[in-house]
Amino acid sequence: MRYFLAIIGGGPAGYTAAEKASKAGKDVVLFEQNALGGTCLNVGCIPTKSLLYGAKQYFNATHAQKYGVTAENVAFDFGAMQKRKTIVVRKLVAGIKQRLNNEHCTVVSGKAVVISHQPSVVSLQCNGETYEAENLMICTGSTNFVPPIPGIKDNPAVWDSTDALAAAELPKSIIIVGGGVIGMEFATLYHELGVPVTVIEAMPTILPNLDPEVVQILLEKYKKANINILTSTKVESLDGGKVTANGEVYEAEKVLVSVGRRANLLGLEALDDIELERGAIKVDEFCKTNLPNVYACGDVTGKIMLAHVASRQAEVAVGRMLKEIPLQRIAYNAIPSVVYTNPEIASVGITEAQAESMSIPVEVKKLPMTFSGRFMAENEGETGLCKMIVDAKNHSVLGVHCIGNPCSEFISAASFAVRNGYTVPEFRQVVFPHPTVSEILHEIL
Ligand code: NAD
Repeated sequence: MRYFLAIIGGGPAGYTAAEKASKAGKDVVLFEQNALGGTCLNVGCIPTKSLLYGAKQYFNATHAQKYGVTAENVAFDFGAMQKRKTIVVRKLVAGIKQRLNNEHCTVVSGKAVVISHQPSVVSLQCNGETYEAENLMICTGSTNFVPPIPGIKDNPAVWDSTDALAAAELPKSIIIVGGGVIGMEFATLYHELGVPVTVIEAMPTILPNLDPEVVQILLEKYKKANINILTSTKVESLDGGKVTANGEVYEAEKVLVSVGRRANLLGLEALDDIELERGAIKVDEFCKTNLPNVYACGDVTGKIMLAHVASRQAEVAVGRMLKEIPLQRIAYNAIPSVVYTNPEIASVGITEAQAESMSIPVEVKKLPMTFSGRFMAENEGETGLCKMIVDAKNHSVLGVHCIGNPCSEFISAASFAVRNGYTVPEFRQVVFPHPTVSEILHEIL
């Protein structure tokens, strides 16, 4: 049987593509070597958020005096948190399986390898069987990058994020190398559960891609909470849990290395003429590669390594394959992102610094989150910040950057404005429910 579409990888890109193409009546085969759901569901977004939620419950219970609540003998059971995390993941993975079954998509468990590619026919092998398809979609994701630092390889004290998520017990202390998104989310988890944390970041700031004013608020709060954050600090070598950085030695039971991820190209060796860009598969606006009928979506394209980008890329790519009219496109200028620290950081669109580097004259609007009544009611002692970047010429909203709980839950309203090119007067006409923290987006206009 020749399939319309073969998909390698069952993460958010792969399963979204499979569902959409199957729904359109096409024969689809999807190969997954581990569990459906990919990094996001199994060893990324969902397990971290499950554990972070448990940690937040404990932390809030032990810091509730400011709301007039005193709780005694508050304790947590990390094993129970891990168990709950596993159940959440299992249920979501089963849900994906069910959805693909409902659409009669063929799911093959195993490692697929491309064996040949000609225009209009790709051959793959998996578990000793050969499969042919008219179109190929590569959704193989990414893997943790291991930097070439002496003493890092085969060091039993070193964890990557997958090891940290699987650990049965909390470490007694931890050094986190890399103060990016993964590093700061794990710093939050461990800190809230009482583990001493040191973060070592090579750049002059943690979360270097975010708005510096927003990051500064987090930095000040975390430093006050005794999270040891070292910036402009280069790790030179490791010896067990001893980390030498900028000539000083720091020591912890475990060292979590979170310095980025790299596109996973294993199993694609037969596509030796596929074009790469900075180690990832180069794609056009419809996620087409330079090879006829070969598409790539998600982390393997190295664009923005976020699950929601992967699934949107898959929708656009399948739309192109199906020759939908009109063809959909991805609004890369309006991709929201969230860092699940406490407080959360959420942003969409360009920052002030990016506007400057693109020579776009902008007006920057700023308000502390305390301008929202609901924020005041629920965030004792916090000020937060909301920044809006507005085009100085046509007054359209180009970016929004917030810190304060629960900004992850309303950043989509800002995405909607950026995606649709709303001007300030247009956005002002949107009614926000009162009292919600989302009203900050109205107050700031
Ligand atoms: P990242 O790129 O966000 O951060 C890596 C950090 O490590 C950077 O700040 C970098 O300057 C620093 N670094 C690099 N080499 C270093 C060294 N030798 N010593 C010290 N610091 C060093 O990467 P990540 O945190 O590993 O996350 C990987 C990907 O996963 C990212 O694309 C991220 O967006 C995604 N992710 C997203 C979420 C979310 O959306 N909430 C959560 C986790 C991961």
